[in-house]
Amino acid sequence: MAKKRVVLTFPPELTEIPLTYHLVKDFDLAINILKAKITPGEEGKLVLELSNGSLEKIEDGLDYLEKHGVTIQPLSKEIVLDEEKCINCGACTAVCNSKALSMDADARLVFNKESCIVCELCVSACPMRVIKVMF
Ligand code: SF4
Ligand code: SF4
Repeated sequence: MAKKRVVLTFPPELTEIPLTYHLVKDFDLAINILKAKITPGEEGKLVLELSNGSLEKIEDGLDYLEKHGVTIQPLSKEIVLDEEKCINCGACTAVCNSKALSMDADARLVFNKESCIVCELCVSACPMRVIKVMF
């Protein structure tokens, strides 16, 4: 299964057009919305994970969006955690809405990178400053 994570920026005139619906219907893409900030009449932002059996289908869907004026950037930032310096206090898990950060049964921090949407909320929540954003 091919997968791609992208950040879409919609100009105000596109925020009310169901472009993601077309990605599903016309390009047969499975869409996981990781983050959305869409206000009618203002610029909108969506962080999506697109998947399909073929990477070509994903690229076709993204071409379609670009032709309609959507700006597309790969989700290239990532969160890096220095586990050696982590004191397993759990403070970061309280702000991680996507549950990428959680505590295991032994009260140790677990980071599931796949679920991370790079919202960066955990970076300032960590008292030890061991969580960083890498570009
Ligand atoms: S950046 Fe931090 S708080 Fe945000 S989803 Fe990733 S791990 Fe969770
Ligand atoms: S807030 Fe920092 S020190 Fe505390 S569990 Fe999270 S990464 Fe570790």
